[in-house]
Amino acid sequence: MSRPPSYEIVVPTIGRHSLGVMLEALLASIEAAPGPGPKAIWLVDDRPDAGPPLPLPDHTGPLVRVLRSGGRGPAAARNTGWAATKADWTVFLDDDVVPSPEWAADLAADLAGLPPEVAGSQGRVTVPLPPDRRPTDWERNTAGLEEAAWITADMAYRRKVLAATGGFDERFRRAFREDADLALRVLDAGFRLVRGERRITHPARPAGFWISLRMQKGNADDVLMTRLHGRDWRERAQEHNGRFGRHVLTTAAALAALAAVPALRRPAGRAVALGAVAAWAALTAEFAAVRLRPGPRTAGETARMLVTSVAIPPAAIGHRLRGTLAHRTAGPWGSRPVVLFDRDDTLIRDVPYNGDPARVEPMPGARDALDRLRRNGVRVGVVSNQSGVAKGRITAKDVLRVNARVEELLGGFDVWEFCPHDNADGCGCRKPRPGLIERAAARLGADPADCVVIGDIGGDMQAAAAAGARGILVPTGRTRPEEVSAAREVAGDLAAAVDLVLGARRARSARGVRRTAR
Ligand SMILES: [Mg+2]
Ligand SMILES: [Zn+2]
Repeated sequence: MSRPPSYEIVVPTIGRHSLGVMLEALLASIEAAPGPGPKAIWLVDDRPDAGPPLPLPDHTGPLVRVLRSGGRGPAAARNTGWAATKADWTVFLDDDVVPSPEWAADLAADLAGLPPEVAGSQGRVTVPLPPDRRPTDWERNTAGLEEAAWITADMAYRRKVLAATGGFDERFRRAFREDADLALRVLDAGFRLVRGERRITHPARPAGFWISLRMQKGNADDVLMTRLHGRDWRERAQEHNGRFGRHVLTTAAALAALAAVPALRRPAGRAVALGAVAAWAALTAEFAAVRLRPGPRTAGETARMLVTSVAIPPAAIGHRLRGTLAHRTAGPWGSRPVVLFDRDDTLIRDVPYNGDPARVEPMPGARDALDRLRRNGVRVGVVSNQSGVAKGRITAKDVLRVNARVEELLGGFDVWEFCPHDNADGCGCRKPRPGLIERAAARLGADPADCVVIGDIGGDMQAAAAAGARGILVPTGRTRPEEVSAAREVAGDLAAAVDLVLGARRARSARGVRRTAR
């Protein structure tokens, strides 16, 4: 027998009370399992700005580690998580589930002996519903998770498949459809996905009056799904058809009634208005009835269903139009580029052999440049020579502390690589050698040819060329003239460098649109 497959766990959110409950159950199941547990449990802090560290629940232990992803949503947070893993499998768990006592043992059994063409294994979800009354619309909605396919409440993927597909599509900004999108891309790549036997429970949390209205935002994500996967994606993702067609009819009836108002003086106008109002009322009443019938007949639930049944159809259409506009040029996810920055004198001012986080000072425009890239779904990383370690001037720990400060000031990065060696070590990673770039690309599952390297000296550009990456030089006063003249691309500042990156990308996605136009 071969060794049991190794795994690590990624939780894309931090800071909710439920995380403590989840971790306690998870750690207990790991303790109780006979085999080796996870190599790490990564919690991703996706708050947009660095605040004080969040208090972790008690009894977490050394397995639990925290990453930052800069407020880009759960899809991006999961990508930050798996990029940090090294094990064969990455298991995504949500912070509001409760793993069963046998979860870790069952997971090991689920993953053991899976043939290489199986890329993912899904856990089984139970949503406990109130025993003493019928479930509300929202509770029934949550209960739908029991049947849902490939949801990341508990989903294990092979790490190398995540790397090959680019992981989750970060244009899905909320916890909706990003899991189905990844599953479809993995299936399209020829892999299989299976259901395992491990179990979690997913409680239906209390939700406010307007929750069903807020959920209409998902219509924008559905537009992106159609754009990326074609019209039959629901069938392939085992999703039932929504009510969007009826919402269009209902809204059209309401608009027809409004349009007939100026003509109310004439009998024909009155007839049209009356007919339109009757059609709107019938469609709305049917919608409310469908939602009320299986639920509890409380005054609160009835009021909530009546009000939101009126508001949902136009909201659904509004979000669908918003999505159509936002995603009109969206191309495939896997091909997006990676931008790897040199650190010193590119992102932060160069303080030679700096081991002091307090002395970190961003270069002008660095935060804006990075945020623009992040908003455009471009992954960002840092590749940095730190020969001060080999020289004994600073320790590797100092470098990590300074890097943590850089993330506090400039937001999270998808990958960090630094070379601790000096010239005499003859390593393959010290720029102008290509090793740092190759390593960073490999950790993101990217081809170096899809990477752009932005740096301030000739060594950065030579390293880029040696790795087969594109290089953009952003000179400072200390860059030598011959380095500037040797560079293939030069930008006056970081903002101009980002223009070059995104400009090329826009041209490519425009070509992609023409190719896929039907
Ligand atoms: Mg530099
Ligand atoms: Zn090195």
